[in-house]
Amino acid sequence: MPSATVLVVEDERALRESLAYTLERQGYRVLTAVDGWQAVQVARQQAPDVIILDIMLPSMDGFEVCRALRPQVSSPILMLTARTEELDRVLGLELGADDYLTKPFSMRELQARIKALLRRVKIDQDNARPSSTEDSPSVWVFDDLEIDSLRHEVRLKGKALALKPKEYETLCYLAEHRGHVISRQKLLTEVWGWEYVGNSRTVDVHIHWLREKIEENPTAPRRIITVRGAGYRFEG
Ligand code: CA
Repeated sequence: MPSATVLVVEDERALRESLAYTLERQGYRVLTAVDGWQAVQVARQQAPDVIILDIMLPSMDGFEVCRALRPQVSSPILMLTARTEELDRVLGLELGADDYLTKPFSMRELQARIKALLRRVKIDQDNARPSSTEDSPSVWVFDDLEIDSLRHEVRLKGKALALKPKEYETLCYLAEHRGHVISRQKLLTEVWGWEYVGNSRTVDVHIHWLREKIEENPTAPRRIITVRGAGYRFEG
């Protein structure tokens, strides 16, 4: 099996080199870029399997790089944030990033995130293959919201939504357990597959993004309900 290619975008030399070194030792093929402009060029030419993208970069920052890459480049993007203000922008905007890590982070955590992103891509590819043994209902209908598991597509009022893989998986899991409260930790385990205690903020981010897409009024959601101190409940 060919090793996955990771593009590391970081202007800080020490961090860039230590990331590259560690990932190479883990068996990844590593590409590096020192600024936003170079990141866009390399990502377009090489289509890496995962992009690790720092936000604070010369020439173009990480937000601009994200916007320049989407939707043509579909590689999953893991954003590195250093400051709370950046994190607020990552959480508040639909940038096309798939996950984020706040500095400082451990190499172990970084590797877990990369693996999760790669696994997600592989699941998508596997699901994209037509299956002849499909016998469970392939489309769930909740009023004007349809979840089509055969086509891996979610439609609102008949219009296909651009959901990121984890948004789709989160929605599917919640819909499968409609009416039940699902804790953030349960979602992390089921959707992200993390065996260790992950960052539950990741779940909140994806719920936030999902609501922006499927709720008529995302600030007063009626499909994905927050159950204080317990988790989330899908109402359909
Ligand atoms: Ca930086």
